[in-house]
Amino acid sequence: MTVGVHPLAGFDKLLHYTVPESLRAQVQVGSLVRIPIVNRFHLGIVAEFSAPVGFPVDRCKPLAGLVYPFPALPPDLLRLARWMSAYYAAPLDGIIETMLPAAVRKAASLKQEKLLVVARQLTPEEMAELTRRAPAQAKAYAFLRAQPRPVLKSLALERLGVSAAAIKGLVTRGFLREDSRRVERVAYADDHAAGEHVAAQPHILNGEQQAAVDALAAALREPGFGVQLLFGVTGSGKTEVYLRAIQEALAAGGGVAFLVPEVALTPQTVARLRSRLEAIAPGHRAVVWHSMLSEGERLDGWLALATGEARVVVGARSAVFAPVQNLRLIVVDEEHEPAYNQHETPRYHGRDTAIYRAKLCGALCLLGSATPSLETWANAGAGKYGLLTLTQRIDDRKLPFIDVVDMRVEAMRQRGPATLSRKLLDAMHGRLAKKEQIILFINRRGYSSAMQCRKCGHVEECPHCSVSMTYHRTDETLRCHLCGHQRGAPARCPSCASPEIRWRGTGTQRVEEAVRRVLPKARIERIDTDTMQKKNRFREVLAAFRAGRIDILVGTQMIAKGLDFPNVTLVGLVDADLSMHVPDFRANERTFQLLVQVAGRAGRGDRAGEVVVQTFTPEAGAIQFSRHADYVGFAQTELKVRKDFGYPPARHLLHHLFRGPNPEKLRFFAEAWKKRVEEALGEKVTLMGPAAAPIEKIQDEYRWQLWYFCNAPVTKIVAEVARLRAAFEWPEDMIQVLDVDPVNLC
Ligand code: ADP
Ligand code: ZN
Ligand code: ZN
Repeated sequence: MTVGVHPLAGFDKLLHYTVPESLRAQVQVGSLVRIPIVNRFHLGIVAEFSAPVGFPVDRCKPLAGLVYPFPALPPDLLRLARWMSAYYAAPLDGIIETMLPAAVRKAASLKQEKLLVVARQLTPEEMAELTRRAPAQAKAYAFLRAQPRPVLKSLALERLGVSAAAIKGLVTRGFLREDSRRVERVAYADDHAAGEHVAAQPHILNGEQQAAVDALAAALREPGFGVQLLFGVTGSGKTEVYLRAIQEALAAGGGVAFLVPEVALTPQTVARLRSRLEAIAPGHRAVVWHSMLSEGERLDGWLALATGEARVVVGARSAVFAPVQNLRLIVVDEEHEPAYNQHETPRYHGRDTAIYRAKLCGALCLLGSATPSLETWANAGAGKYGLLTLTQRIDDRKLPFIDVVDMRVEAMRQRGPATLSRKLLDAMHGRLAKKEQIILFINRRGYSSAMQCRKCGHVEECPHCSVSMTYHRTDETLRCHLCGHQRGAPARCPSCASPEIRWRGTGTQRVEEAVRRVLPKARIERIDTDTMQKKNRFREVLAAFRAGRIDILVGTQMIAKGLDFPNVTLVGLVDADLSMHVPDFRANERTFQLLVQVAGRAGRGDRAGEVVVQTFTPEAGAIQFSRHADYVGFAQTELKVRKDFGYPPARHLLHHLFRGPNPEKLRFFAEAWKKRVEEALGEKVTLMGPAAAPIEKIQDEYRWQLWYFCNAPVTKIVAEVARLRAAFEWPEDMIQVLDVDPVNLC
């Protein structure tokens, strides 16, 4: 018997081995095995059970061992890996590597730790008796009984300072039981233990929620692939619908993956989800999965899923690769979030990958959003996806009133560029007087985006990147937000030595300063990546805000998502134009999403909320449609624009980026490559470029780009391009990156 194995050894090739007699019963497709390559051992994944015709089987070496008695990459994940490799034109070994936790790739062994379980509740009399005869045993017993869950034996011994003999005594008496189940290093265990968050109770569904749940339950009763879009305004109770669907899937004996954007994975949401999930499925625990876990935590969760001990995973985009068995439902919350896109190789989109995995498993994929991506909306419109709608906010809470302030008028009124408009300031005064809370968003950290000389117009740029340096007033530096380069802020123009410098554009620090100036008594905190360098700081600030110890929170988009503060009644978007005027065909969509998202933060409690949006282009569609929370109108208009220009979802796009130290060389080879593609693909693709990328230089590397608009099925085009690319003679110092269905364009 021979098997084909994908080695995890940094190259993309199938190697063949024979299976020794002793392993035959256990080796399966997807097994993680040890294989000899030259004279070293590596790990690999069994991909198939045969050898090519005429293959010299007798010269194959035997497998050296099997790591786990179950497949490390179940068949659906192996097929998903192959699909991704083809769809995203990425090497298979890199994808398989992404799917397996680092600890698994190092073949970490199953860790058996002893748990102590209370086997019998003692009566007060028995307890008194035990205390008299064996005080150490009584102490240990009392401790263990008080714990909400079984405790690690090693931990109990250490914590209690009792001897192993005392524990043994309790076991012999039948008061305790030792359990050798594996133990999960519970992520965020401290939140659980501290009981900081009460377990969220299930709600009685309203009519719209019930209709959505009924439709999902019907779809889940029979296995089979399908995609449903849950389109519900902010605050309409989508989470409750997800939870009911999850309950259905578990009741049908299936497994579940629940994906949320990484930013939404706050301990608060995780704790709440976990307790609800564990409540609806007693005996099941939800595995948490995201990039910040330690290796051990990740391995424990992975093992629990791969062995079938746990059936639910909650996590960020990479949770789409969790080895959930018998997968019946994948939920993708906030499906429009760019955070689902992985920029580094292997590039993939978490939502699209989730849909494909659901297809492979015959599962239901449930996408949810208040502002669906236009790709998803178009698919729902074409009948490819089912559409479930929640039009009402819970308890008929009003969507907040959105006030748009024209900053051109404001600049005339205040005789110069203003950071905060009169309207926003008045609203802030009013809310503070009523002891209500305020959030101000400005999606740029630092003080100002550029320093410009009033005399000669010079703008200081990063010497390594073609972007202006951001001024940080807190430490008087100019910093490049792309490469991190920094220098002291000059007092005079570096070009003409004039002392007249002006700071253009607004960042979080400038907003904070402006607020402090006009509201000196308010308690203000700023949240951006600069202030959040210290671990736990983010959580501390949010907790203080929740507890009412902060009046005004100034921050970047970091705080725009998923947070629920009932006492926030005013939200200000200081500069809506920041997301609108960027070279990205999705700029309008992003702006609309941001506005709706931000507005959703106001008035979550029982008081009506108010939103003030400052902009220099108040007439823009994204702003006007968001004032009336009119997603459907916005989508209709924007889809027409996309169609007219042939942008997604009208056609698939490919983005090809060329990087290197020499711009002339980049241009030369990019043009030669373009000719090559044109000859081979003809009408099937429309090419645009090559041209310098919007940011032409980053860290001393130049960047050129080429766009492909696909007039034929994207899979065909990617396959052709991948073939041509492998045959093309690229110069050594030129890196080229192909992005299929690109998300971030700058
Ligand atoms: P969305 O995700 O659609 O913005 P959420 O799921 O966060 O909305 O729900 C908004 C709020 O309404 C939450 O506090 C949630 O607990 C609550 N909620 C959801 N469904 C109900 C219901 N049927 N009855 C009462 N409250 C509900
Ligand atoms: Zn730089
Ligand atoms: Zn100057």
